[in-house]
Formats: sequence, structure tokens, C-alpha cells
Amino acid sequence: MSETSFTETEERRSLRKEVARLAAGYGREYFVKQARSGGKTTDLWLEIGKNGYLGINIPEQYGGGGGGIGDVAAVCEELAAAGCPLLMMVVSPAICGTVISRFGTEEQKQRWLPGIADGTSTMAFAITEPDAGTNSHNITTTARRDGEGWILKGRKIYISGVDEARNVLVVARTEDARSGRLKPCLFVVPTDAEGFEYTPIPMEIVSPEQQFSVFIDDVRLPADALVGDPGNADAGLLQLFAGLNPERIMAASFSTGLARYALDKAVAYVKEREVFGAPIGSHQGLAHPLAQSKIEIELARLMTQKAAALYDAGDDMGAGEAANMAKYAAAEAACDAADRAVQAHGGNGITQEYGVAGLLVAARAGRIAPVSREMILNYVGMHSLGLPKSY
Ligand SMILES: Cc1cc2nc3c(=O)[nH]c(=O)nc-3n(C[C@H](O)[C@H](O)[C@H](O)COP(=O)(O)OP(=O)(O)OC[C@H]3O[C@@H](n4cnc5c(N)ncnc54)[C@H](O)[C@@H]3O)c2cc1C
Repeated sequence: MSETSFTETEERRSLRKEVARLAAGYGREYFVKQARSGGKTTDLWLEIGKNGYLGINIPEQYGGGGGGIGDVAAVCEELAAAGCPLLMMVVSPAICGTVISRFGTEEQKQRWLPGIADGTSTMAFAITEPDAGTNSHNITTTARRDGEGWILKGRKIYISGVDEARNVLVVARTEDARSGRLKPCLFVVPTDAEGFEYTPIPMEIVSPEQQFSVFIDDVRLPADALVGDPGNADAGLLQLFAGLNPERIMAASFSTGLARYALDKAVAYVKEREVFGAPIGSHQGLAHPLAQSKIEIELARLMTQKAAALYDAGDDMGAGEAANMAKYAAAEAACDAADRAVQAHGGNGITQEYGVAGLLVAARAGRIAPVSREMILNYVGMHSLGLPKSY
């Protein structure tokens, strides 16, 4: 984002155009066909990787484009706006790519980042557990020392894309050698490691990307599977915090892209469909809700761009508030846009042929994951308004 105006730079705008052009070659039909047939979006994933869009935020010396979170968020938004929302973009380049770029050892960066950047070695992210839920302080996946290495044990739930990932960045806890207190720590676990098992959770989202229950049964890991410096007692916590803003900015872009796709479909339909001798879009009962969506989407995009600009400028605190607000606004905009798109289509809105109702659950998931709207409201209540912590 340029400093003197509220428009994106020329470079960012042309990035959007290039990605939109690439995505149009796939489109919603491709995405839904893959989802309904049990297929994957690997060819699209590898093509965006090959063109340098997937790892655009990864440092150049590790195979990336050397750009910022704003760039990779723009890629994510344009893909979703073309009907191909790729959840793994939030996870692999944005969360895992950021954590490893910022905290990995030199050797770890060289080993993992190039494959994240070109899409050949996707990394999933696993923090959620069945019993801990939103309260990630209560996770029980544990790492214990095994000579030089580690033994990992625990269970995770709703982990996206494990079947498409080569590795998973797993959040666990371990005992601090000095204080004896449990502290968070992050491990890169190969999906083919012995004792690492996963089963798909049947979800109602129309997407080739699936969620999994993960069972980690005494998985043996080498010493360097632990991300970063083992001597730093707060390393895991810092790493987790570092992933939060990118995660929220990307989730916001995912939702605004989805919202744009839904709105475009609705607008095209109401311009054509006639039932009382004029296009149904001429009735304010339909035009106004769609105009509201246009406003909500633009507001969410603006806040997302602000969050990304602050984050890329190194202002983590400022970015935190903006990223939470952007994520909130974008999820709301997407839910409203999907619902209004269904309404505008009448009965056709519920058919598979028109493919609008399928957007409802995907948009709705944005209110829950990766962070729920309630936790965002908690954040804004506490940090922006100075209200007492309520939980
Ligand atoms: C499509 C999808 C993909 C996902 N992918 C991943 C992934 O790749 N990796 C991963 O680790 N996780 C993933 N998740 C998990 C996701 O991050 C969690 O579902 C989410 O954090 C909520 O946790 P929970 O489902 O346990 O809900 P719970 O913690 O059981 O919460 C249930 C409800 O209670 C509310 N609530 C809880 N505590 C409070 C409070 N203090 N104040 C107000 N309200 C509260 C929540 O907001 C929510 O509405 C995914 C989830 C989905 C749906």
C-alpha cells in the first residue's frame, strides 16, 4: 500500500491481475468438480508455486519472492474471488512460512522454505485439540526428551490438508529444563513418520481441501525437528505469536475473496433474470442488500490492506488490532454475501448447478476458524477498549 493514497501500489495491482488471469483458467467449475469427485487442487497449487505466487512472502534466498504478507494475501484473495479459495495458502506459506522464516535455524530455513515456496513440500499447521478447543493453553500434546531427540505424543483435530502436506508444524508442550514449567514448542513432523496417523473428518464444506483428526503416537523426532533455538525458553510462545497476524490477514483475504465471488455471481444473475417484466436487480429489495455487500467487502478489504501494511512495516502491535478487525469484518461480509447471493438466485440458489448454496458453509467457517468471532471480540474488548478479560 502506498503511503500517500488509499490505493495499492501498481506492482500489487498487477500481481492481482496476473493471479486472477491464472485462476480464471481453473475457475469454480474446476474447484467444485475436484471437491465432489474426491480430487485435489494440486495442479493449481503447483502452478501458483511455479509462477512464484505461493511463496511470494518467503525470503528470496530460500526460493521465495521476498515480498510481504500483503502480497501473499492478495494472491489468496484473487484465487478465492475466482472461485478457488485455497485454505492451505493461509497455513503453508503464511503461518508455517512466517514462523520458519522468522525463527528457524539457517539449516531449517534451507530445508523447509523452498518446498513451501514452490508448493512441492506443503506444510500443515496443527494446534487445535479436542479437549482444549479455543483455549490453547490447555493443549496436552507433549514432547519429551529421547537422548538428543524427542518423542511426541498427543491428538489434534480439524487439521487442514494433512493428506496434501509433506510435514506438519505441530504445537506441543515440553518441560523447561531450568524451571520445570510446561512451555509451548513447535515441531516439524513428517506426515509419513512412524506413529503419525490421520483420518478425514466428513465436513459439509464443498472443498477439495479436507480436515483431519491427527493421532501422534510416540513419534520419534530428531533434535532439529524443534523449530528455532532450544536454549530460548520463550521461543515457542514467540513463534506462536508471530504466526497470528499473518493467519488473520490471510483468513480475511480468503473471506473477502469468497465474498467477492458470491457477490459477482449474484449481480450477474439479477441483471439477467426477469420475473415482472424487468430484471430482478431493478427491485431495491434485491439491489440494496447487494449494495450493502459491496460496501462491507470494500471496508473489509481496506482493513485487511491496512493490517498487512502495518505488519509488513514491522508494527506488530498496530497490525494485531487491524488484523483482528479485518478478519472479523471479512468473515461477516462473506457470510452476508453468500446468504444474499443464495436469496437473489431464488430456487436456483439451492441447486448444485448454480453452485451458490455451497458457498454458505465455506463462508460460515470463516466465523469459526482459524480464530472465532467471539475471540476477536474478546481481543477488541480487552486491547482496544481496555475492558477486563472475561475468560
Ligand atoms: C474448516 C476448518 C479448518 C480448520 N483448520 C485448522 C488447522 O489447519 N489447524 C488447526 O490447528 N485448527 C484448525 N481448525 C480448528 C479451528 O481453529 C477451531 O475450530 C477454532 O479455533 C475453534 O475451536 P473449537 O472448534 O474447539 O471450538 P470451541 O473452543 O469448543 O468453541 C465453541 C464456541 O465457543 C466460543 N467460545 C469459546 N471460548 C469463548 C470465550 N472465552 N468467550 C466467548 N466465546 C467463546 C467459540 O468462539 C465458539 O463459537 C479448523 C477449523 C475449521 C472449521
